Amino acid sequence: MKHLSRLQAGSGFVVVLLFWAQGALAAQSQELTQLVKAVALLESTPTGKAEVAKARELHIPVREGTVSKTEVTAVRVKQGNNEQLKFNTQVLISSNKDLVFQALDMAHELTHAIHPKENPFDPALSAEEYVRHGIEGEGGEAQAIGQECQVGKELIQQKAVKENFVELIKARCQYVWKTENDPGRWKHSFYQLGQYYQQFVSLIRGKADQFKVETKSPLFASAVAHKPYPLALLEEYVDITRTICNRAKNNPLVRITKLDQRCKEIENQ
Ligand SMILES: [Zn+2]
Repeated sequence: MKHLSRLQAGSGFVVVLLFWAQGALAAQSQELTQLVKAVALLESTPTGKAEVAKARELHIPVREGTVSKTEVTAVRVKQGNNEQLKFNTQVLISSNKDLVFQALDMAHELTHAIHPKENPFDPALSAEEYVRHGIEGEGGEAQAIGQECQVGKELIQQKAVKENFVELIKARCQYVWKTENDPGRWKHSFYQLGQYYQQFVSLIRGKADQFKVETKSPLFASAVAHKPYPLALLEEYVDITRTICNRAKNNPLVRITKLDQRCKEIENQ
């Protein structure tokens, strides 16, 4: 089995791990204790229990990090004439948070981690599709935040959370609980860019009409990129595409798929 190419992106949904740390959960006993408690708290809710069961089935490693995020390594492997794409996924949970928020972050990140990813090498994968899927698709941000707030609701209902944390969860999830029965409006609200609108438009070279982006103040932002999701995802797409195109340019071995169109589209960005 030969690794032909690895992607490196800035942050967020599809990110490269240069070193895949299998079984890293057992690295430090203190880290382990804290994470085990967060998993137990998540599992005390019906929604979290089902989610953790699925993550265990898929052997998704969870470890502490400086920020909560899901890291995915996409690796193209070629065996004979068959090319396959393999994803290695791990979840990092911020060590700098109270247990309750670690459990909520875990609910969010595991939603990303347990759903299949798009093929970043797909020559037909457009920026519009990447952003839309990252927000609205299976395992996208809308679903992850919905899951996080559902677990938050269940933790509050079963009185597993101190009063001051209840207020914080309510502040974080109020809009989600109010809007979740209207999926159209709920998903649409992710496209509010506020002051980042111009940056988005210039990155997509004026083709913003293909996206649902709006100038209203953002309601949701990526904790990794500190930007609203559409911009964070668009930057990720450009990074990924540029990486693939550079690899293809420098190494004829990776020219397996025709990426010319994608490469051309991001060339001047
Ligand atoms: Zn997320």
